[in-house]
Amino acid sequence: MSIDLWSSVTELTGVGKTATENLGNMGIESIEDLIYTFPFRHEDFRIKNLAETPHNERLTVEARIESTPNVMFMGKGRSRLQVQVLVGTHLIRVVFFNQAYLKNKLIRGETVTITGKWDQGRQTITASSVHFGDKDNQADFEPVYSLKGKMTQKKYRQFVRQALDLCGQQLTEKIPEKFRTAYRLLGIREAMEGVHFPKNAEHAKQARRRFVYEEFLLFQLKMQALRKVRKESEGGQAIHYDVAQLRAFFNRLPYELTGAQKRVVNEICVDLLTSERMNRLLQGDVGSGKTVVAASALYATVTAGFQGALMAPTEILAEQHLENLRTWLEPFDVRVELLSGSTRAKARRELLEDLANGKIDILIGTHALIQPNVLFKRLGLVITDEQHRFGVNQRRILKEKGDNPDQLFMTATPIPRTLSITAFGEMDVSIIDEMPAGRKEIQTNWMKAEQFNLVLDRMAAQLADGRQAYLICPLIEESDKLDVQNAVDLHAQLQVLFEGRFTVGLMHGRLSADEKEAVMRAFSEGQVDVLVSTTVVEVGVNVPNATFMVIYDAERFGLAQLHQLRGRVGRGKHQSYCVLVADPKSEEGKERLISMTETNDGFRLAEKDLALRGPGDFFGQKQSGIPQFKMADLVHDYRALETARRDAVQLIQSTEFWEESSFEPLRQMLNESGILDGERID
Ligand code: ADP
Ligand code: MG
Repeated sequence: MSIDLWSSVTELTGVGKTATENLGNMGIESIEDLIYTFPFRHEDFRIKNLAETPHNERLTVEARIESTPNVMFMGKGRSRLQVQVLVGTHLIRVVFFNQAYLKNKLIRGETVTITGKWDQGRQTITASSVHFGDKDNQADFEPVYSLKGKMTQKKYRQFVRQALDLCGQQLTEKIPEKFRTAYRLLGIREAMEGVHFPKNAEHAKQARRRFVYEEFLLFQLKMQALRKVRKESEGGQAIHYDVAQLRAFFNRLPYELTGAQKRVVNEICVDLLTSERMNRLLQGDVGSGKTVVAASALYATVTAGFQGALMAPTEILAEQHLENLRTWLEPFDVRVELLSGSTRAKARRELLEDLANGKIDILIGTHALIQPNVLFKRLGLVITDEQHRFGVNQRRILKEKGDNPDQLFMTATPIPRTLSITAFGEMDVSIIDEMPAGRKEIQTNWMKAEQFNLVLDRMAAQLADGRQAYLICPLIEESDKLDVQNAVDLHAQLQVLFEGRFTVGLMHGRLSADEKEAVMRAFSEGQVDVLVSTTVVEVGVNVPNATFMVIYDAERFGLAQLHQLRGRVGRGKHQSYCVLVADPKSEEGKERLISMTETNDGFRLAEKDLALRGPGDFFGQKQSGIPQFKMADLVHDYRALETARRDAVQLIQSTEFWEESSFEPLRQMLNESGILDGERID
């Protein structure tokens, strides 16, 4: 009988019914699963100096037992053993949980090696293991796995040992030789030994380094392969725009484009010219000037004899785009129209007819654009504003409306580069990382809830000057569970406070779409002075007269969201202010608020957010397309990610990759994942 990587773990000696069940609960069925279940950390058994070990860190010390162990039983088989020990000159306490049997082994006067977590305040080590006898018999490093049921670390290690001895030879080397040499990475077998049975700290580190790179490389290869397959299979249209006309457009703009805008326009124009289909994500912080970039791309498309479409998530945004584009493009005889849910039947019919006849150059709209009866004559470019607001389906339908039109997705959510090349790895990414000159920085303060009256005074002063204000709070109505101020309450309070002076509007997620539009419109037209709202307040809406933003219970929001909300102000010629009202309890909460007061740079805040909360939380609850890596960490290993991406791009573009036999394991991986058939991977 031969055992291979795909054999069941039950083939291993000692894996009985219970072990099979415990392993099954960890998602381990085959030998390969077992080998590829990595430890979540390594225990360092090298002796450390107690005095130099910070609070809450793990350490190993040699300790002389100074008292008889004292055991307390706590029911359900749980126990707590406590003993006094001498470490160097420190007399401290050691606590073991659920290891009452040690009572007779920890003998006064003897010296043992203890590993655990150091609580400096209590002068106590909570021990996870104890080693009796000669220190030299103990390994310096041992992996620690996250195990289920009655499985012990020792048993698990024995299984892995067996598995590696039986099947280690069969592990295939996936990292191409040239990269392994260039980065001095361990080969697959030595690396696998280093993960599970490291000889020392360096071995463990090098093993990790190899697998981090491997994971990133494989993932990026899939992304790049998908990108290539899509480009080749979909085909696109070459849009030969008129450079002179485009230049005339830029000359007529009321301002010069920023360096970043110019760079991004160039990136888009290069894509337009090629016959491959553009699939590009444009990231730019709120207020960075994405609209004019969109207009440039649309105009370029029109000069080549194509039509363009611009889809916005709300009617108000669509109307704002219409106004801007008409102002900029009508002098050039470009016909821009709007199609929305509220376009009347007759107007709508005429509009659709003109669209189909090619009399309309640019169509702007909400999701009304993706109705089946909306037909273009020659659609060349589709732009989706605030792309995260649209479902994948909505976007797909729009792009299917033409002969594979180029696509540009715009987002105001700054996404750290590590995440964007992971979540959007199959797209090209352009970034506007510069604000138009002369913009006044929003002044941000953090105030305590008890200072709320002061905040309202400051708000009233702005309103008295003719400005407008937002007040954002986390919930709609009072909740028993959460002690947070709610929009309905605050709205009522402000109405009383400002009665006869200022109008206060209310906006939240339980209003119907029409009601929301109506409130937002009243605010943007200046009939409402203060808008009390939950976070549904429209992204991207431009009310330049609004200069004061209050975010209530600000500690409840992530940094990215706080920054998005703050971006509703600071859009006009007046100085704008943002006040965060918060009493954060955690250090992390405080750090977030301080970051907000320190910078207006969305990308810097996004990096900070990622570091504070980790990649899982960055995009919120929704599935984000970010894979779970076994070894790699998107925050700490970003350099490896960049390298792997570069290597993947180069590999996929090379002919050797598709032809030479040494790349067979990688091609096979792509084949198996369905990517070569153009499927999205998750
Ligand atoms: P967003 O990227 O958030 O969509 P907008 O396109 O709405 O930003 O632009 C924000 C404001 O900045 C608008 O009033 C726009 O006219 C202005 N703006 C854009 N580009 C420039 C520039 N290069 N110089 C000066 N003002 C600009
Ligand atoms: Mg915008």
